[in-house]
Amino acid sequence: MKPETLAIHSGNLFKASTNDVTSPINLSTTFLRNEEGGYSGGHIYSRVSNPNRSNLEKTLADLEHGEEACAFSSGNTAGMSLFQALKPGSHIIAPDDMYWGFKKQLMSIFASTLEFDFVDLTNLESLESFIKDNTALIWIETPSNPLLKVTDISAISAIAKKHNLVMACDSTFASPCLQNPIDLGADIVMHSSTKYIGGHSDVLGGILITAKIDDLWEAIRNIQQIGGAVPSPFDCFLLLRSIKTLPYRMRGHSENGMALAIFLEQHQQVEAVYYPGLVSHPQHEIAKKQMSSFGGMMSILVKGGAQEARKVVNTVKIFAQATSLGGVESLIEHRASVEGPDTKTPQNLIRISVGLEHIDDLIEDINQALS
Ligand SMILES: *Cc1c(COP(=O)(O)O)cnc(C)c1O
Repeated sequence: MKPETLAIHSGNLFKASTNDVTSPINLSTTFLRNEEGGYSGGHIYSRVSNPNRSNLEKTLADLEHGEEACAFSSGNTAGMSLFQALKPGSHIIAPDDMYWGFKKQLMSIFASTLEFDFVDLTNLESLESFIKDNTALIWIETPSNPLLKVTDISAISAIAKKHNLVMACDSTFASPCLQNPIDLGADIVMHSSTKYIGGHSDVLGGILITAKIDDLWEAIRNIQQIGGAVPSPFDCFLLLRSIKTLPYRMRGHSENGMALAIFLEQHQQVEAVYYPGLVSHPQHEIAKKQMSSFGGMMSILVKGGAQEARKVVNTVKIFAQATSLGGVESLIEHRASVEGPDTKTPQNLIRISVGLEHIDDLIEDINQALS
């Protein structure tokens, strides 16, 4: 089935006795045993599994063409669970512009148990020189945050396979509707479901989807169930409700994103626009090959420095000045000041999450703020 159909129908594994058309919210933390001591309802205790989480995991596994999914209470926990599942002493290759929350995680929580190198993954030649005997994982993120760099998923997965390494892809900026890394050879796909999957800036969550069930996946499942950083049944219900409109929302985000990027690229006050849909984007050809459209995330460099960039984010009226992304409302932020003093993000960079408002209103708003 196509994504639009899967998004609506995959997550209806459990039907209530009242014949509801959609699954109800099951808040029970524990489930009845039968006379033989078994669990005929398929669930034991809601940290281990519950109907709403199973619905959510099934839907995301289907949308990403994977075998199974594990849902977590945040995107950061999803990534952390994969890092935790690696053998201590393992080496990870990750992008130099890795999502800063993960970079921080590796450098603080995993500083003494894992080794890592942050490398430019758009340079395939140099990648192999970083592979060591204890390398276990190549982590990619595409498009990346906040520079919207695009990494060639098939090319990296071929290198990972050649060296017997796991390849995982943070696909948050693309959502399961714009690219499917498992089809291109990824072993594991990660999303912050706080972003496009949730889509309404009102629920936190993370997801891992696996291409196959193997020892690493069993370890991740164990961390999910025994560690217990799981989303509540209500969070799962909200995410599943959101997913039903995800394919259509992504069309709107992509359409608005493309139009705004084209407008900004020719604006006198704008020095550069980073958007994978633009022909001027350095990896546009790779983006075209692996994405069906280009989403609503972009960064721009305004002429001037931090002061000029801050003026723009303070002058817009429709865009909300806030971090995060992927919601129906457009967000704008001066990224360097969020990331702190040791950031490499340019001081005149503004990150934009284009929402689903009318494009004419968005263009008028940003135009008055830039002028
Ligand atoms: C937000 C984000 C995360 C972390 O997800 P949380 O839900 O905030 O924990 C990871 N990767 C990317 C690309 C993100 O944008």
